[in-house]
Amino acid sequence: MAETPAPLDPLNEDWERALCVVAHPDDMEFGAAAAVARWTGQGKNVVYCMVTSGEAGIDGLAPDACRAVREEEQVRSAAVVGVDVVDFLHQPDGVLEYGVALRAVIAESVRRHRPDIVITGNFRDTWGGRNLNQADHIAVGRAVLDAVRDAGNRWVFADQLTDGLEPWGGVREVWAFGSPESTHAVDTTATFDAGVTSLEAHAAYIDGLGWENWDPREFLEGMARTTGSRLGVTFAAPFEVFPMGWGE
Ligand SMILES: [Zn+2]
Repeated sequence: MAETPAPLDPLNEDWERALCVVAHPDDMEFGAAAAVARWTGQGKNVVYCMVTSGEAGIDGLAPDACRAVREEEQVRSAAVVGVDVVDFLHQPDGVLEYGVALRAVIAESVRRHRPDIVITGNFRDTWGGRNLNQADHIAVGRAVLDAVRDAGNRWVFADQLTDGLEPWGGVREVWAFGSPESTHAVDTTATFDAGVTSLEAHAAYIDGLGWENWDPREFLEGMARTTGSRLGVTFAAPFEVFPMGWGE
């Protein structure tokens, strides 16, 4: 008999501003966009920050041409779920390295947007099965955790603190969506369709993958339904929660 997966707790929604920091255009849309649509619908402010422009993501398109296509798709995809601000940090796609340089650019974004919550993608080694996670996702997630602390320390990356930019130590939690270690989830039943439309906005990318008969709705539905059953709703998105204070 198959093991019943553990129930998930509802995510805290008592916050106003979230910054989503992910490696690539399309990362948010593979699992988190419907959650974003729910939150912007509640009047929350959500900003996207793309560490790369996904310029190495389409085999048949060279990076210089690909960059503009993917940025344009990401901006449209974000607008579908109520996100009007999409920053691109223009770090190199495919070869991101965890380290001080990556922490610095992410910390600067945290200082600029002053979020309560920072969201990133799964940065565990796998997705829960045997499929390995991708190197950029792992580098970004680890750097996000550190950059959130860096952002609050005025003596770290102090050269950024010009033109009115101040330290920001107000991030309460970092959430990693799609993590196999998820303990929490958010009900996406009412905003599921917006999540699908948001993923479909990455048309050139999806086309470039060359997956025959791949259906974005079917794909997202499979994941959302499994998570929904663990939360007691139809559809949901799973998150691993990292508290950024002390004593937990
Ligand atoms: Zn990615």
